[in-house]
Amino acid sequence: MVLLTMAVYLLFALLQAAEVLLGFIDATASAWLTLFYLGGSLLFYGLLRSGWSERLAPADPALTLPQTVHGVLAMVGAYAITGPARGAVLAILVLVLAYSMFSLTPRQARGLALFTFILLALTMAWKSQTEPLRYPLAVEGVHLAFGVIVLGGISVLSVRMGALRERLRRQKQELEASLEQIRLLAIQDELTGLVNRRHMMELVRAEQKRQLRSGEVMSVVLLDLDHFKQINDSHGHQAGDIVLRTFAQSVLPTLRAGDVLARWGGEEFLLALPGIGQKEALQVVQRMRESLAQVSFDAIAPGLRLSFSAGLAACQPGDSIEAVIELADKTLYRAKQAGRNCTLSA
Ligand code: GH3
Ligand code: MG
Ligand code: MG
Repeated sequence: MVLLTMAVYLLFALLQAAEVLLGFIDATASAWLTLFYLGGSLLFYGLLRSGWSERLAPADPALTLPQTVHGVLAMVGAYAITGPARGAVLAILVLVLAYSMFSLTPRQARGLALFTFILLALTMAWKSQTEPLRYPLAVEGVHLAFGVIVLGGISVLSVRMGALRERLRRQKQELEASLEQIRLLAIQDELTGLVNRRHMMELVRAEQKRQLRSGEVMSVVLLDLDHFKQINDSHGHQAGDIVLRTFAQSVLPTLRAGDVLARWGGEEFLLALPGIGQKEALQVVQRMRESLAQVSFDAIAPGLRLSFSAGLAACQPGDSIEAVIELADKTLYRAKQAGRNCTLSA
């Protein structure tokens, strides 16, 4: 954008030089003004390129407002020296303001329009006083009236544009939040925050692919809370939900990175332990059991204790994961039969 602005300024400088040749503009005044807008624009380019703009104005790192004010000063300056052809300068002034529409806030846009109007009015009054022949009061009055129409229009447009940008920004934020929520819903169990069943299958299948290369075993454990229905029946469904959440929170810290615990169904959980054989897997489940035993559910019912039964099965490279889970399920059933609160291996 700054380079584009510079290109406009360069064309403007050429035109101004032509006007000097035509005798409309004083050469010295023209040189100073050209130095002001080309030099200023070069300075802005340097500030932006070097990253200094971000340090100087963190809220407006593109320096839109200073650049626009600089442009307005340059064009009002051009108006003051251009003499008979000055009407055309007003068109360029509009261009300067139009540039800023894309990034100024509605408040800044209104302030800028007011500032431009006052500056223009003062310049016209000054010129018609000091050079009444080149800048007749009546002509200046007409120019100012046109200026009011254009500035008013631009400021209304800027405000609308600002509101539109604000709406887009909000919509983008909302979309991002929704997308994040959808992403979580797709992989997470809402109640416990654990991996959900669908995502667990993805993770396990990916692990099985790795197994084919590494040749390592993976332990799969199906866990089921003991007498969970009683908790629901005696203390209500909401208490049951709290127990499920507490279970997940208390056993998760005992797992290593790479181990995955998923909510498989109501009060059933599936644990996948990549690269871990039966002996170590039994230790992992034992750690979970001990951690759960520490948890107090006194808030729900004094003395309430929670336990689970577990069935462990080994998944060798190339095994069908469905068959392995089925085996873990049968083993879990045996653990329930054996009196619960225990882990059996297939
Ligand atoms: P067992 O020791 O044999 O596993 O007995 P149990 O009572 O745990 O097993 P059962 O399958 O009879 O009951 C499971 C209960 O889990 C029944 C169901 O209402 C409850 N349940 C399933 N999902 C949820 C849930 O999301 N929240 C709550 N509060 N309860 C749930
Ligand atoms: Mg069950
Ligand atoms: Mg149960």
